[in-house]
Amino acid sequence: MIYLDHAATTPVPRPVADAMYTVLTEQSGNPSSQYALGREMKKQVEQWRAAVAEALGCEARQLCFTSCGTEGDNWAVAAACWQNRRLGTHIVTTAVEHSAVLETCRWMERQGYEVTYLRPDQGGNLTAGQVLEAVRPDTALVSVMLVNNELGNVYPIADIARGLAARNPQTLLHTDAVQGFLKVPFSAKTLGADLITLSAHKIGGPKGVGALYLGPRMRNPRPLLAGGGQEFGLRSGTEATAQLAGFAKAVELRRADGEAALSRMAALKAYAMERLAAIPDLQLIAGGQAPHILAVSLPGWPSQNIVNDLDAQGICISAGSACHQGKPSHVVAALGLPKRVAAGVIRISFGPETTPAEVDACVQALRTHRETRMPML
Ligand code: PLP
Repeated sequence: MIYLDHAATTPVPRPVADAMYTVLTEQSGNPSSQYALGREMKKQVEQWRAAVAEALGCEARQLCFTSCGTEGDNWAVAAACWQNRRLGTHIVTTAVEHSAVLETCRWMERQGYEVTYLRPDQGGNLTAGQVLEAVRPDTALVSVMLVNNELGNVYPIADIARGLAARNPQTLLHTDAVQGFLKVPFSAKTLGADLITLSAHKIGGPKGVGALYLGPRMRNPRPLLAGGGQEFGLRSGTEATAQLAGFAKAVELRRADGEAALSRMAALKAYAMERLAAIPDLQLIAGGQAPHILAVSLPGWPSQNIVNDLDAQGICISAGSACHQGKPSHVVAALGLPKRVAAGVIRISFGPETTPAEVDACVQALRTHRETRMPML
């Protein structure tokens, strides 16, 4: 199998699985228990937290573990709106956010909030100026992702943070950094966002665990889950210890291979772009700066047919986001591309282990698809 869908999820390396296995089989204690077994687990949880926090460039105390990126996004939007409920009921976000943010914003609309959904240009680009212009005195929250999961575009979060300080210093800033963490260089400090969402399974960690950074301006945040007081009293529930061990191990591995892995992926993406450009009709949709995501279109050849055809040959790519299978992607729709182009958009995404031979096989399969299938639109 050739797996070129690392933006959907990533394979779990053996040492990550081993770290989780050790916890499951040898460290079964509850971190809240008062005896040695529990105390040991509590210590471990704090070590895993410190490992993720160090990679994000924040204090361990500022990082709460969550059950996934979706949970982090939901919580961030709700927490910011709650904190700023007296400031106003306006949210600024983009039309190309992950559904985890968009659906939470839609829910907030049903609670009486007004949401401005900014659209990027046809190449998926969005400027800080565009975001700041939409901010009003009653804007409670700005939520803009760091790296778009379907296009690979990197959005200027640090510039937005700086601009917000002048435009409306009370407005809180959330960024969904699920696709950016350990893929593009940033730290909580350099970014300047108040809330940052992470997810483990995009970096070789297990599915079902993530984290939310809550910065110093999140004063007395509203707990997501009330109960036994875990996660600094903000997200109760017995810690998913094996998942946390896997998350921390994945972070450690990606950091160890850090720069080298990123340059390998960036070089591979450049190579793929060059090879793909030689396919007649093929259009580059977004050459976004993230090293692992590439969006292209074969106008006239519907993306779902391409995905199915390549799937039959053991090649995994995606027609837009995996979270929207079967439905047109809201991200592609927001670009305002001609219908034929939009219908043919596919996403190819790389991991640190992806090889040029795998890219070659994918390019050849796409070329053959174009040559042997009738265009349908
Ligand atoms: N945000 C972005 C940008 C994503 O790409 C994803 C996953 O596809 C998520 C959030 C959701 O993360 P999770 O799958 O951990 O819920």
